[in-house]
Amino acid sequence: MRLILLGPPGAGKGTQAKMLKDKFGIPQISTGDILRKAIRDNTDLGFKARTFMDGGQLVPDDLVIRLIRERIRQDDCQKGFILDGFPRTIPQAEKLSETLGEMGLTLDAVVDLEIEPEEVTERLAGRSNCSQCGTMYHEVSRPPNRPGVCDLCGGELYKREDDNRETIHKRLDVYAKETAPLKEYYGSQGNLKAVKAKGTVEEIFMQVCSMVS
Ligand code: ADP
Ligand code: ZN
Repeated sequence: MRLILLGPPGAGKGTQAKMLKDKFGIPQISTGDILRKAIRDNTDLGFKARTFMDGGQLVPDDLVIRLIRERIRQDDCQKGFILDGFPRTIPQAEKLSETLGEMGLTLDAVVDLEIEPEEVTERLAGRSNCSQCGTMYHEVSRPPNRPGVCDLCGGELYKREDDNRETIHKRLDVYAKETAPLKEYYGSQGNLKAVKAKGTVEEIFMQVCSMVS
């Protein structure tokens, strides 16, 4: 199964992608996670991506396209994959379709997680992640038992550099301009499925699953 998760920052793409990965046994490919790892590892890619990411802007298309082209050719992607955070522009979508075409593959579905921008700002501004196991917390809706410490593994919690109000605003602008047009792009190809990203994580997951299987 080859899937794309679309939706604004904070819609819950990462959370749903992880659940899909566990259910279907196919990899989650998050360009955001790959780029953040590149920054932590001080690679050339990380160095190039950092200023864009910290400012809430998109990393140039050629960098992420190259990254994805390499990634989906790896062995673990043979049974399928979930793209989370890619494509984010029309040129990225066109290159993806070209690459899949070369490989003789097609997409099964594009799931759009729909949510209001106001709601997203609160979610992102309050969120923190465990540096060890990746579990997500929120200062209002899911606070950890001890501030700054993961309930599950005791790992240290951190806030993403781009989860501050000013940068969130910028990310939402970029989404509206660059990424939202993908809904029409995939809609006209007939494989766009919309899911309201409201309710509990499990409720949303049930809807996502009903769209893809
Ligand atoms: P979110 O969806 O919450 O903004 P991501 O982790 O998907 O978070 O992305 C964080 C940042 O990484 C983006 O603001 C952008 O700078 C960069 N990025 C991730 N994916 C892409 C992409 N496909 N194209 C360009 N930049 C990207
Ligand atoms: Zn943890």
